[in-house]
Amino acid sequence: MTGDSTRAVRAGLPEAEAYHPTLPGPVFAAHYHLPGDASGPYTYGRESNPTWTLLEEAISELESPGAPARTSVFASGMAAISAVLFSQVRTGDVVVLPNDCYQLMPAVRERLESYGVEVRTAPTAGDAQLDVLDGARLLWIETPSNPGLDVCDIRRLAEAAHAQGTLVAVDNTLATPLGQRPLDLGADFSVASGTKALTGHGDILLGYVTTRDQALTDSVRQWRKTVGAIPGPMEAWLAHRSLATLALRVERQAVGALAVAEALRDRPEVTGLRHPGLPTDPAHAGAVAQMRPGRFGCVVSFVLPDKAHAERFLAELTLVDDATSFGGVRSTAERRGRWGGDAVPDGFIRFSVGAEDPDDLVADVLRALDGAARE
Ligand SMILES: *Cc1c(COP(=O)(O)O)cnc(C)c1O
Repeated sequence: MTGDSTRAVRAGLPEAEAYHPTLPGPVFAAHYHLPGDASGPYTYGRESNPTWTLLEEAISELESPGAPARTSVFASGMAAISAVLFSQVRTGDVVVLPNDCYQLMPAVRERLESYGVEVRTAPTAGDAQLDVLDGARLLWIETPSNPGLDVCDIRRLAEAAHAQGTLVAVDNTLATPLGQRPLDLGADFSVASGTKALTGHGDILLGYVTTRDQALTDSVRQWRKTVGAIPGPMEAWLAHRSLATLALRVERQAVGALAVAEALRDRPEVTGLRHPGLPTDPAHAGAVAQMRPGRFGCVVSFVLPDKAHAERFLAELTLVDDATSFGGVRSTAERRGRWGGDAVPDGFIRFSVGAEDPDDLVADVLRALDGAARE
């Protein structure tokens, strides 16, 4: 098997053909020539598209290099998440969610409950979801969690779930497939927002679901076709184009994140510092056990004394945009509490380290902390 960088550069490219491009451009088509019966690889644009196909093959190679897998791409991470939950779960089923996962998941929970699904929650840390697993149809895991950066043991949870016939889905957004491979660790679905580090330029929304089971892929695709949560061909092509630099970005951003976390560690006004790559972090041992070496993500979370202090800090930064999302080549940071969906203190900052020189970022962060403390 080739290395990750080689695989990322070549992932999903068609066989070389004289006088054709390396990566064919986006195919814009609502329908395709379709003689005879309504079958064949490309029929109508809500069902399939050749630009998706290449991207789906590429993501499958990254999520599951050692075994055949199928990926389905979606209009956004939430479209992919909804496809897994709503294609697999019926009235009367039990679903287990983390209580500290992505901020829109409580809305998904409400929707599931309105359809007569029982939803149980438990924290990511300490594999606490094990305690509420009994009889569940589906276990949803998010590790490392966003924005708290806790880690759970995917293999342990998947073994317990499978022993009682429970399906397991992992939100792999933060790690990316080059940081963690949930299917190798026993999950049935690896699901992610491609909006973040996977595509890494902060200019498209995308989601995907990867499985090794044909029936699961079929039901997820049936859901995609039914609700029409499909990516545009241009977005799919841009996503594929950005995969070539995934290894470079993931590695550089992880180095930068560790440097920023180390600089923050020595500051008295900073509390609750979290980054899975920090050897002193409570999640470090778990991250080392199941994530790829040195690829613990680009996010650093920490708490400043109060809302005003946090806002002064954000305003003082010159190389870091005050913006949401994460994983992009340009660093961003935000006061997470402004969204209201996460149980975080007012001064909680989620910092996404980009591809800038780590020394420049550390200098900017230290200067902004000094400025915020003075006022
Ligand atoms: C952003 C995010 C999502 C949602 O993805 P969108 O592309 O914004 O729909 C889901 N899970 C996690 C962990 C995320 O960070």
